[in-house]
Amino acid sequence: MSNEMMKIPQATAKRLPLYYRFLQNLYASGKQRVSSAELSEAVKVDSATIRRDFSYFGALGKKGYGYNVGYLLTFFRRTLDQDELTKVALIGVGNLGTAFLNYNFLKNNNTKIECAFDVDPKKIGTSIGNVPVYSMDDLERYLVEDEIPVAILTVPAPVAQMITDRLVKTNVKGILNFTPARLNVPSSIRVHHIDLAVELQSLVYFLKHYPMDIEPEE
Ligand code: ATP
Repeated sequence: MSNEMMKIPQATAKRLPLYYRFLQNLYASGKQRVSSAELSEAVKVDSATIRRDFSYFGALGKKGYGYNVGYLLTFFRRTLDQDELTKVALIGVGNLGTAFLNYNFLKNNNTKIECAFDVDPKKIGTSIGNVPVYSMDDLERYLVEDEIPVAILTVPAPVAQMITDRLVKTNVKGILNFTPARLNVPSSIRVHHIDLAVELQSLVYFLKHYPMDIEPEE
């Protein structure tokens, strides 16, 4: 991963892959410019936010012209490190883990799940979606040898912290945590927590409590 990522607000950084995917499609269809209104409609982000996001990377957009698609794409590709493959390990080959192995984020051509780990002898030694499943006994060895910087956690919540403590001692710098457990890590490690049950509940909550045309604040 690049250390040259400029300092842009985290909320902006999170929207970059969304913009990037849309601009790739535009570029493929031969479009050379795009207005913030068109972008806004396509990615469902309001156009003021888009203009502010884009101003962070010096794309100011001209009135009546919009943004140059080629310029934006080059910028995003550099920023998102599309040219460099980031290796990912997945831990816990249950229902969710298996789905990820089969999916393998192939549309993101900059990340790839290289290997998976589990404790279940029926799963160890198999391969799912072309990804080998190894024993947890070999976790540190593979992660260190392959210099894997990112791990996806799809294990039962009660074992998540114990596994995280092991990851911390390898080259892993980022953890995508799909378990409901809140993880303690040193400040050198970044954890993104995706609790699917909470996300679903929160969606249902917003549907019930906010009228459809009022956007809740993030
Ligand atoms: P399944 O139906 O395969 O059990 P699941 O997603 O319902 O899937 P979970 O109990 O959530 O099952 O476990 C997810 C996976 O994590 C399973 O494959 C399980 O073998 C594995 N697992 C459990 N404990 C550990 C551990 N300590 N280290 C690594 N993997 C583990």
